[in-house]
Amino acid sequence: MTEIKNERDYKLFFQMHPILQLIVMDGANWAFENGLNYVITETVTTLEDDLKANRKTKTHRTKRACDVRSASWPKWARKAFINYLTEKYGEYAAVNTEGVKILVKDHDSGSGDHFHIQIHWKYAL
Ligand SMILES: [Zn+2]
Repeated sequence: MTEIKNERDYKLFFQMHPILQLIVMDGANWAFENGLNYVITETVTTLEDDLKANRKTKTHRTKRACDVRSASWPKWARKAFINYLTEKYGEYAAVNTEGVKILVKDHDSGSGDHFHIQIHWKYAL
């Protein structure tokens, strides 16, 4: 099943950069095809949200990052999902401070394992 965590994020989903929406929805289709639940857990944030979550970057605030729960997915799927999106949309990836392009990060920043899907700063809104 594909779902968005709450009403607030449901509304904010449509504020995200359309390239990010496209990538996130392609990911939803991939998950569906592979029998996996797809739960969007974070979309656009405010400065207050970022401070509360101890977020060091402003990718969510600038409407170019979206989180999807990965905690319940098996290891193979987590890897395959990242490879699928990176092969297809890697050119849109955000670039870290070392100059490395990263489109999807699978990590836990305190709220459980999730994919942080992020696009380049030039798409900031
Ligand atoms: Zn995130």
